[in-house]
Amino acid sequence: MTIKLGIVGVGKIARDQHLPVIAANPAFDLVAAASRSGQPVDGVPTVPDIDTMMTDHPEVVAVTICTPPQDRHVIVRDALNRGLHVMLEKPPGSSLSEVADLPGLAAAKNVALFATYHSRFAPAVAPAKAWLADRKITAVRVRWLENVRQWHPGQDWVFQPGGLGVFDPGINAMSSLTEILPHPPFITSAELSFPANRDAPIAATLAMTDIAGTPIAVTLDWRQTGEQIWEIAVDTDAGPLVLSGGGTTLEAGGAKTEAHDPHGEYAGLYRRFAELVPARRIDFDTAPITLLADAFMLGKRTTIDAFDW
Ligand code: NAP
Repeated sequence: MTIKLGIVGVGKIARDQHLPVIAANPAFDLVAAASRSGQPVDGVPTVPDIDTMMTDHPEVVAVTICTPPQDRHVIVRDALNRGLHVMLEKPPGSSLSEVADLPGLAAAKNVALFATYHSRFAPAVAPAKAWLADRKITAVRVRWLENVRQWHPGQDWVFQPGGLGVFDPGINAMSSLTEILPHPPFITSAELSFPANRDAPIAATLAMTDIAGTPIAVTLDWRQTGEQIWEIAVDTDAGPLVLSGGGTTLEAGGAKTEAHDPHGEYAGLYRRFAELVPARRIDFDTAPITLLADAFMLGKRTTIDAFDW
């Protein structure tokens, strides 16, 4: 039986990924979209909010939340309290306490809850994890360098409190890192660069380690023009492993594999959600957002030049 789905928040990621991927997955039937500003979606009606969605389309049993992290908690609680299965865009929220609140509510309502991390579904992530599983790791370097003007054009929420700044893509790095490393990493110090006119960092460097004492250096920067770099480089006793292209390319043991599918990560997310819904299961890892929170807790802050779009 198809899952009657609603989507909440019709912005860049909903249009770039969710709508085409839902349309291509026969497990889902998109019934309605919620947009405060009435953004049109081909083939389905737009409603202002979940309340109207459930009044007009009571057949909806699951929703995907694609709004920014601020205000996300109220929307998710509302959906769970209505007995809807919920899939969340990353990050799962804008604070640890509101995120911690959600799995218990989903369990109490006996519905599925899926905190997605699309980067974990990149094709080279699972092979990288398998290759590293029985290697001795001696050092890790993460570079996540992208152009905020290209990926978040004019989205002021990313620089507002709770928008996370460069940690919005940084959570992709953290989700891949925590997935592939055999030991959980933790942050020992951080330096955060805040534009003078913004409330969230545009760049960050993190010093991290793990229980084995592995040095892990992370550079996140949203001012990158030219080549966009999403790379995790790992030194091991069996030579280097490099996971690049955000998880599409793997170089390890003298071999290189590349796989580019523009909708592959999100297709994987929806296949997973289609498994979770009938089983009423919760997939809700908080490790990536915990690392971001630690970066804010430990971070030395520097004010730099103002940023304008
Ligand atoms: P966006 O383009 O700004 O779209 C978000 C939509 O949410 C808006 O169009 C807005 O539509 C709605 N909305 C509801 N409450 C809102 C609020 N309080 N403030 C602002 N908008 C609100 O953002 P996006 O890039 O799609 O990102 C949405 C989520 O996806 C974020 O968590 C982001 O981290 C994640 N994501 C984004 C990308 C990317 O490349 N951009 C990639 C992966 C994941 P209405 O005003 O019509 O309601």
